Amino acid sequence: MSLAYLDKLNDAQRRAVEHGAADAKTGDSGPLLVIAGAGSGKTNTLAHRVAHLIVNGADPRRILLMTFSRRAASEMGKRVERICGQVLGANAGVMTDALAWAGTFHGIGARLMRIYAEQIGLDPDFTIHDREDSADLMNLIRHELGFSKTESRFPTKGTCLAIYSRVVNSEAALGEVLKTYFPWCAAWEAQLRELFGCYVEAKQTQNVLDYDDLLLYWAQTMSEPLLAADIGARFDHVLVDEYQDTNRLQSSILMGLKPGGRGLTVVGDDAQSIYSFRAATIRNILDFPKSFEPPADIITLDRNYRSTTTILAAANGVIDLARERFTKNLWTERQSAERPRLVSVRDETEQANYVCETILENRETGMTLKNQAVLFRSSNHSGPLEVELTRRNIPFVKFGGLKFLDSAHVKDLLAALRFAQNPRDRVAGFRLMQLIPGVGPQTAGKILDAIATDPEPLAALQEIPAPPRSGEDWTTFVAMLASVRRGEGWPSEIGTARNWYEPHLERIHEDADTRKADLLQLEQIASGYASRERFLTELTLDPPSATSDQAGVPLLDDDYLILSTIHSAKGQEWRSVFVLNCVDGCIPSDLGVGTSAEIEEERRLLYVAMTRAKDSLHLVTPQRFFTHGQHSQGDRHVYAARTRFIPATLLQFFETTAWPVVEPMSEAEKAARKQVRIDVTARMRGMWR
Ligand code: ATP
Ligand code: MG
Repeated sequence: MSLAYLDKLNDAQRRAVEHGAADAKTGDSGPLLVIAGAGSGKTNTLAHRVAHLIVNGADPRRILLMTFSRRAASEMGKRVERICGQVLGANAGVMTDALAWAGTFHGIGARLMRIYAEQIGLDPDFTIHDREDSADLMNLIRHELGFSKTESRFPTKGTCLAIYSRVVNSEAALGEVLKTYFPWCAAWEAQLRELFGCYVEAKQTQNVLDYDDLLLYWAQTMSEPLLAADIGARFDHVLVDEYQDTNRLQSSILMGLKPGGRGLTVVGDDAQSIYSFRAATIRNILDFPKSFEPPADIITLDRNYRSTTTILAAANGVIDLARERFTKNLWTERQSAERPRLVSVRDETEQANYVCETILENRETGMTLKNQAVLFRSSNHSGPLEVELTRRNIPFVKFGGLKFLDSAHVKDLLAALRFAQNPRDRVAGFRLMQLIPGVGPQTAGKILDAIATDPEPLAALQEIPAPPRSGEDWTTFVAMLASVRRGEGWPSEIGTARNWYEPHLERIHEDADTRKADLLQLEQIASGYASRERFLTELTLDPPSATSDQAGVPLLDDDYLILSTIHSAKGQEWRSVFVLNCVDGCIPSDLGVGTSAEIEEERRLLYVAMTRAKDSLHLVTPQRFFTHGQHSQGDRHVYAARTRFIPATLLQFFETTAWPVVEPMSEAEKAARKQVRIDVTARMRGMWR
């Protein structure tokens, strides 16, 4: 059997791919850690490893592959298929289609929790709350308990949720979390404890899980030895990409799946750890080797295949100043004379102009829009650029920003599907019932209370007389729910819900036509999923990003530019990369100016951004920028200094320029100007004659 794909790898990559291949069928090989810098081929190596295991007889249905996003998982699946195809020919597709357990920790958690629902006391029809739903529920309870009234300046719903999430994900005590991360909320510890208790209870009676629960329930399930063994036995191989951004719950899940580390491979880069605000901890990757006996094999990679020498030198310069780091500097053979550009512009309007013009110039020279990306620290930094791109008709898609699913009409339609699936989901029910004329929050609350404890809540709902003034609208609402619930086949159920919703949409929104187009698009997306439940789960966990508010939704095969937060750009690469607002106050963000650990994380964030570039990198520094309420003073213009992560000592790695460039005057022009003579005084006098 010729394995040409192995020849393309370097020695270290090849060792990682071949590690324990003899035991591919059983997954009996020891644990493996691949720890290496950006662009050194970690993800590529992981894909080769999965393919190589399959080629050597591993059963793809028994491979669990966890990545940072669902997109990353599906790209990995395609790569595995291509590599396998070189050996297995046409059979490769069948083999890799069976790679069914590839996804995110949360997505996989949701699937497993449905399978084990009964054993762990869950109703398998549970629905999943996204962050906004969770905040809404938190808010509802905050009001019910009266904290928002009696306690002046009680933390907002968003802060409450952030505190709760920190506690859950770091498995730390509430008091500790408050002291360390939310000192200004410490006075409310007792109230917060009560609030969180009620929040957990509410989720249980309503049969909903939030994001954190997906990991929490999974981790709890793993603490029961028989269930842990059962779940662990489903998989011979467990592989995780971007391991530096996992939290303690995630590592405890992994250890539960493969207690001895057999068949376990993790891959990551400590210099790219950027999720500690979600309780991710760098200790997971650093402590991995010694978690096992015998300890895990460690493979490091030091050659970068992505970027040019000049880009890598600048990125290495930035990360060299970090306080601590495990991975070593990388080298590359991609020679280039073009240094990354550090471009000073006057303000964000000029920043947008610079980016647009350079992008168009690049396109003139044959670099498609898809090969270029614009990255920024925070989702609201791209506003002026979005306006300029729209004005110039440059199509773009934004990741990590306002999601398709955040628009009211899409949320309404999804609430209908969710409520039909789980009529105890109070946030969904609340939202939906208030669409019906004559039903306000109080009536909705009463109806939801009345059906909450009924074993057949939907049947109970049908028994309830129509609220006054709702008449026909109520009857069609209940009929729609029953029809969707019966399951007339997916995706026609979504059509049923849409037909019911459209008259309401026309009544509520002026721009009904554009919104209807979004709903059709949603239906289109829905047809790609196997069932209602799969659709709702995956859509909530990893939503698509396009909305019709953007400059014409680009079709998938069109050429378009990517706009992304740095966080969402993890693991990706483009030929040309622009990083906006490389100034103090943005990177590091004002919020990050607290502890030195936070500053260090912001430095790694800049490193992640810079290392996305293959051929050209532009760091833009506006001399002033508009703060979007992140300052205590609210929205205002502030004067900005170049980011502290590029001190004067690093300027040698950059080409520093100002834009727009003012052409210096030629000597001839200067001389010509000196020749000019006019007698102004004579002319002035002449004006009065
Ligand atoms: P990141 O840390 O950003 O996630 P990574 O370490 O996962 O990066 P990859 O994305 O796997 O790196 O690879 C970076 C680029 O290098 C890709 O374009 C990949 O195809 C290429 N590459 C990796 N290994 C090799 C190799 N042995 N030969 C040629 N190209 C390679
Ligand atoms: Mg990667």
